[in-house]
Amino acid sequence: MSPREGVPLAPFTTFHIGGSARVFIEATTEEEVRAACGEATRRALPLYPLGAGSNVLVRDEGVEGVVLKVGLRDCTLIDDGGDTLLVAGAGLLWDEVVDRAAAQGIFGIENLAGIPGTVGGAAVQNIGAYGAEFSNVFSYADTIESTTGEHARIERADAAFGYRTSFFKTHRTHVIERVALRLAKTAQPNLAYADLARAQAESIPLTTPQEIARAIRAIRAEKFPHAAEEGSAGSFFKNPVIPREHAAMLSARYPGLPVFPHEDGAAKVSLAWILDHALSLKGFSLGPVRLYEKQPLVIVAREGARAQDIDALAREVEARVRRATGIAIEREVETFG
Ligand SMILES: Cc1cc2nc3c(=O)[nH]c(=O)nc-3n(C[C@H](O)[C@H](O)[C@H](O)COP(=O)(O)OP(=O)(O)OC[C@H]3O[C@@H](n4cnc5c(N)ncnc54)[C@H](O)[C@@H]3O)c2cc1C
Repeated sequence: MSPREGVPLAPFTTFHIGGSARVFIEATTEEEVRAACGEATRRALPLYPLGAGSNVLVRDEGVEGVVLKVGLRDCTLIDDGGDTLLVAGAGLLWDEVVDRAAAQGIFGIENLAGIPGTVGGAAVQNIGAYGAEFSNVFSYADTIESTTGEHARIERADAAFGYRTSFFKTHRTHVIERVALRLAKTAQPNLAYADLARAQAESIPLTTPQEIARAIRAIRAEKFPHAAEEGSAGSFFKNPVIPREHAAMLSARYPGLPVFPHEDGAAKVSLAWILDHALSLKGFSLGPVRLYEKQPLVIVAREGARAQDIDALAREVEARVRRATGIAIEREVETFG
């Protein structure tokens, strides 16, 4: 663990954008994670844990703090009666974990195949796709509290998962070191999602977790930009969760708007639908950045784009949605620094 100063962060993100970290540390052991936390305290700088940078937008000015790339990458499978407990280091790539579980024939995360990022990022964001959510399989996470250096175990009951949020997102001083997932040994395919039902109807094999993960990756390859060609961070905005009455008013104004029941009597509405059908914003561009043609929740950035270009496009989209629908949309991607 050797702190480096002025390290450009763009190569550590999927947008390939942003300035430098005042201090950058990569930690591959628990001791190094603790030492990195101590380094931030000693320098009186804020600590920014970083996974694979697939959900962050680094400011052009960079990050005035200690960026800690968590590199714990161990993975253990523990037989636990009817289940398997998979314990993975926070720095392991999420899709590798999906592959490990699928190779063992255990179920629970195969629908989350192909999502970029690390195990730590998956817990922070409570990733979700194709009818599955990280929170469904989460058992506990071991963290280090960066200001005290103390270890904590955050159990499922305290993890406060919600739509793209968690305890870890709201308690930023907890650096996740390891996560335990409870996976099923018995077959539990979750094929209700429309794209999967369609694949099933086309007789694509969907029996084993490996088959399901393969099918999901193929579906995703059609929907998301190719990482090697253009920068993105997946969905830039969240689907809005609004009062049911507001959703009913919008449904009357925009027939066909997909509305889903949410907790506490609220409703979740499809922002992609609003951007496409109500505002005709698919492919909308400002300079080198645009809303992706196949999925307008995704902002894609051409080479040479800056964080300020993305921010300008996002602000324009936010303003147009507010004017048309009265909804103040939220960003899923976090501005870093
Ligand atoms: C093409 C594409 C498709 C995507 N599709 C989906 C999708 O289908 N569903 C979905 O939910 N998301 C999706 N995403 C978003 C992204 O992949 C996830 O949010 C991912 O979990 C982020 O992980 P990361 O390691 O890259 O986190 P980062 O972007 O590095 O960090 C995200 C946040 O987590 C914090 N963090 C990271 N590691 C730790 C740690 N060890 N301890 C404490 N905090 C930490 C960071 O400080 C930051 O706040 C997509 C992104 C892309 C680029």
